[in-house]
Amino acid sequence: AAVDEAAEKVVAQLREECATPATRLDGVATAMEEEMRAGLHEEGSSKIKMIISYVDNLPNGSEEGLFYALDLGGTNFRVLRVQLAGKDKRVVKHESREVSIPPHLMSGSAAELFGFIASALAKFVADEGHNKVLDGKQRELGFTFSFPVRQSSIASGTLIKWTKAFAVDDAVGEDVVAELQTAMEKQGVDMRVSALINDTVGTLAAGSYNDEDVVIGVILGTGSNAAYVEKANAIPKLEGELPKSGNMVINTEWGNFSSSCLPITEYDQALDKESLNPREQIFEKLISGMYLGDIVRRVLLKIASQSSIFGPIKHTRLKTRLILRTPDISAMHHDETPDLRIVAETLAETLKIKDTSLETRKMVVEICDIVTSRSARLAAAGIVGIIRKIGRGTPGDKRKTVIAIDGGLFEHYAKFRQCLESTLVELLGEEASEFVAVKLTKDGSGLGAALIAAAHSQYL
Ligand code: ADP
Ligand code: MG
Repeated sequence: AAVDEAAEKVVAQLREECATPATRLDGVATAMEEEMRAGLHEEGSSKIKMIISYVDNLPNGSEEGLFYALDLGGTNFRVLRVQLAGKDKRVVKHESREVSIPPHLMSGSAAELFGFIASALAKFVADEGHNKVLDGKQRELGFTFSFPVRQSSIASGTLIKWTKAFAVDDAVGEDVVAELQTAMEKQGVDMRVSALINDTVGTLAAGSYNDEDVVIGVILGTGSNAAYVEKANAIPKLEGELPKSGNMVINTEWGNFSSSCLPITEYDQALDKESLNPREQIFEKLISGMYLGDIVRRVLLKIASQSSIFGPIKHTRLKTRLILRTPDISAMHHDETPDLRIVAETLAETLKIKDTSLETRKMVVEICDIVTSRSARLAAAGIVGIIRKIGRGTPGDKRKTVIAIDGGLFEHYAKFRQCLESTLVELLGEEASEFVAVKLTKDGSGLGAALIAAAHSQYL
C-alpha cells in the first residue's frame, strides 16, 4: 500500500524528536565532560564510573614472546594467540578463533559460562599440537572482559553489573579472573591470567602500539564504551603513589551516561523499559548495535498500528523484540538498487511484510537514516567530550589526536562511520579537526589484551 498521512506523521515526529543540531551535541559533549570529571573525583559520584584500569603504561613495541588472549564481548568471543617479536618485527603471528556464545549461557550460571569459555580455550591450545616456543614457561593470557568491572589490580576485578544481553546473576560481585582461573584448571589448561582489561582499554593499547598518537579507544559494537589516557594527577580518587609514567588509562563506561540533553523518544523509553537493565546504559541504548535495529522496529510497529501500509497488525512480526537486527537496517540503509530491492527483501524475509510500495521502502530507509544518524552523531559528541577533557582539539593545538575504534557497528555500517566522522569535523571545526583522526582498529580489543599481558608478564 502507499504511504498514508498517518505514517508520514509518525516519521515527521521521529525526525523532529531525534534531531541533533550542533548546539544540542555541544551540550552533550559538555555534559559528558562534566560527568567524567565527577567520576574521577570520587567513587559513586557520577553516572559514568571512570574506572581505574591499572594500565599506567601502554605497550611500546618492545614486547616479546607468545601470548594468548580471550575476548568476551557481547555476541561472540574470540581466542587469540600472538607472537610478538619486539620493536622492529612487532606481531609476527596472529591467530584467532571466534566462537559464538550459546544464548542460554548468557543468563545461566557463572560456572557454566566460564566453563564454556575455558573449554574453547582448551581446544584452541590442544589444536596447536606443538609448544616448543614456550621453553617450559607457563602460558600467559590477557583477558578482555567487556562489562563494568571494579579493578583491584591489573589482573583482578569484581563484576559490577552485566550489560547488553548478559544476566549471569551469580557472577555479579565476583572476581572474574578467579572464576576464569578456576574454570581453566578444571579444563586442565595451565595458563596464568596476567591482565584483565576492558575492550576499550585493549583497543586503545592496540591502537597506540601501531600509532603513538592514539590516546582514546572507543567500542561501537554490540555495546558502546570508551577509554582514554588521563593524567594521574587529574584523578583525585586515585589512591597511593602516583604511577611513574604520570598517566593512567581510564575506562569511562560511558554507556551509562544519561543527560537531559539526550534526544529520547517514546521508542527509546519502551525499549529501555523492556530491556534486561531498565534505566541503565541509556547512552549505550541510543547508540550501539544491539539496539538500533530494535528502535527501527518499534517505529515500524507504531506505523503499523496507525496505518495499513505494513498489512494487518494482528499477527505482525513487528511485535517480536530484536527481530530486526542492526545488520538488517544497515543492509536496507545502503540499498543502492533503483527499486530498493534489498529493502523489499529484508522486510519480506525478516518481518514477512510483502508487496511494499517503493514509497514505503523509501520511508523505511529514512527511518533507518534518522535512527542511525542520531546514534553516530551522539557517539561523535561523546568523543568530543573526551577530547575536551584531555585539553585537545582546540584550534592551534598541533598535536595529533587519534581515536582507535573497534566494533562491528563502526566496522560494517559505512553510513554510520561516515556520519560519525563528518560530525566530528562539524563539532571541532575545520581547523582543529585537521589534527584529529579516527582509525578502525580491528580486533584491537583482543590484540590489546595480549599486548598488556606481555607488558605484565611474570618473566620480565
Ligand atoms: P562485540 O560487541 O560482541 O564484541 P562486535 O564488535 O563484533 O562484537 O560487534 C557486533 C555487533 O556489531 C553486532 O551486535 C551488530 O550490532 C553490529 N554489526 C555487525 N555486523 C554489522 C553490519 N553489517 N552492519 C551494522 N552493524 C553490524
Ligand atoms: Mg568486542
